[in-house]
Amino acid sequence: MMNKQLFLNKNFTSDGKPRAYVELRNIETLWFNTGTLCNLECNDCYIESSPTNKNLQYINLLEVKKYITEIKENNLRTKLIGLTGGEPFMNPNIIEILKYLLENKFKVLVLSNGMRPIEIRFKNLLALPNLNNLTIRISVDHFKKKNHEKIRGNNTWKQVIKNLIWLNTNGFNLNIASKIKPGETEKILREGFYKLFTKIKLNIDSYDKKKLILFPIMNYEKTSTEITQDCWGILNKSPESVMCSNSRMIIKRKDEINTKVLPCTLITKDKKFELGNTLVSSKKKVFLNHPFCSQFCVLGNSSCS
Ligand code: SF4
Ligand code: SF4
Repeated sequence: MMNKQLFLNKNFTSDGKPRAYVELRNIETLWFNTGTLCNLECNDCYIESSPTNKNLQYINLLEVKKYITEIKENNLRTKLIGLTGGEPFMNPNIIEILKYLLENKFKVLVLSNGMRPIEIRFKNLLALPNLNNLTIRISVDHFKKKNHEKIRGNNTWKQVIKNLIWLNTNGFNLNIASKIKPGETEKILREGFYKLFTKIKLNIDSYDKKKLILFPIMNYEKTSTEITQDCWGILNKSPESVMCSNSRMIIKRKDEINTKVLPCTLITKDKKFELGNTLVSSKKKVFLNHPFCSQFCVLGNSSCS
């Protein structure tokens, strides 16, 4: 069956079975997409970020404050705020956003490619309050320079390693996001990273799944399987294990004035996944009507947070 015939009906799969859905338990993690612009143009970027992609605008402090106020007023019990891009450190408002979130005692996780945009903010990062609550996740796509640069581009290795050493030396909470390519095993990757971290004296345990997070490389071209309600039982997997049961993400589209709430960090283009403007209005069932749902969450066995 061709891919284009799948994922048409929100409630039913192409062969008429009830499509799987996920209900929101609680917004444990609220993500903000800080904007799609990125200094890099990785060849497998799921959000197609680049130095010219402005599909999602830079988020600003007022927009962040609006949702933090909503969390507080509704006792939403959100503990972690995630910031992702693009490259969050390209956003001119990033330091004031981080300062506000940390002053408000949230745990904050910011994803970065570890290149020049974060480097020019090092001084500002050191001046932030409650730094214990900040974790910076740097993407290192492989423990070998050659394989990392195959994805991230030439001359991306030396700088990320240099900046990792600086962040580690200055006491920041760090973890690393990497990828498992087909044909490679988790064991090989964790061993390879162990040697790299030892060599550059990085205080990260490569055998800790929360410190070195391995994501499967997605194949956007391959035909995806649609997830039916029966699939949960067949796969012995619970809807509560996927990101949209405990997260939401705020975005601001190009040429739009209002921010929108999405179920997760992964599906940003498909407007059918928009859940309104407020966190309270976003408490809706999310039907898994997108190839990423099966590739990345249900079959790919990864939650991205
Ligand atoms: S650094 Fe991240 S956001 Fe930027 S292009 Fe690469 S994968 Fe995409
Ligand atoms: S991609 Fe994953 S987290 Fe996002 S809506 Fe689909 S199942 Fe939920």
